[in-house]
Amino acid sequence: MNNIAENYKNIRNTIDDIATKAGRKPKDVKLMAVSKFHTEHEICEAIEAGANLFGENRVQETVAKFPQLLKKYPNIELHLIGQLQTNKVKQIIPYIDCIQSVDRLKVLEEIEKRAATIDQKIKILFEVHTGEESKSGFTDRILLEKAIEASSKMEHIIPTGFMTLAPFTDDKEIIRASFRKLRLLSVELQSKFPTLDLCELSMGMSSDYQIAVEEGSTLVRVGTAIFGPRNYSK
Ligand SMILES: *Cc1c(COP(=O)(O)O)cnc(C)c1O
Repeated sequence: MNNIAENYKNIRNTIDDIATKAGRKPKDVKLMAVSKFHTEHEICEAIEAGANLFGENRVQETVAKFPQLLKKYPNIELHLIGQLQTNKVKQIIPYIDCIQSVDRLKVLEEIEKRAATIDQKIKILFEVHTGEESKSGFTDRILLEKAIEASSKMEHIIPTGFMTLAPFTDDKEIIRASFRKLRLLSVELQSKFPTLDLCELSMGMSSDYQIAVEEGSTLVRVGTAIFGPRNYSK
């Protein structure tokens, strides 16, 4: 049996310890509970344990699960962290506070258009490809800068930082290098776009969140270590 509340609290404590050791403030690292493939019941257990930030990666699943939960718990924050097709933007926008997986200008333009329609502001992160094996995210620096520039002129979009997925490997140094790359890039881009506040660094998952916190993550996305393994056959 999985004890979601206990897992959540243990991970929160581990993050606090690592942040403190790294000379950072624990409150500067948010813990996101990634609830994809998990039930409303399991999500409620996490909420009761103190979780207030959730991540989902599929539009269909999010709109099936979260509208009810958000009615019951209006203070929880929900982010989309998976690849987003332009034709699904309209459906998801009313329920989420942030889209972490913006990887092209086209999707950004669609988010602005749909957010404007319902007069809602929405935070976004630019997803950046930092490792050889990961597939998603901006790879081209020029395209990334163009998207940041464009976002600064969009009235309903609040760009807040960057997200990355480390390469799928056991080699801790490769993972660390990928996180370090994102942090250095964010520093450069922040100075290039001084009017924006791009301080959010979403990096780290169940297997590598400890390294991510050491490398400056401000938001770790943890699924399995909180909820247990996902059942993909459901
Ligand atoms: C599923 C997912 C996570 C969480 O992965 P775990 O290994 O279960 O912690 C984090 N980020 C993204 C983008 C995901 O899709």
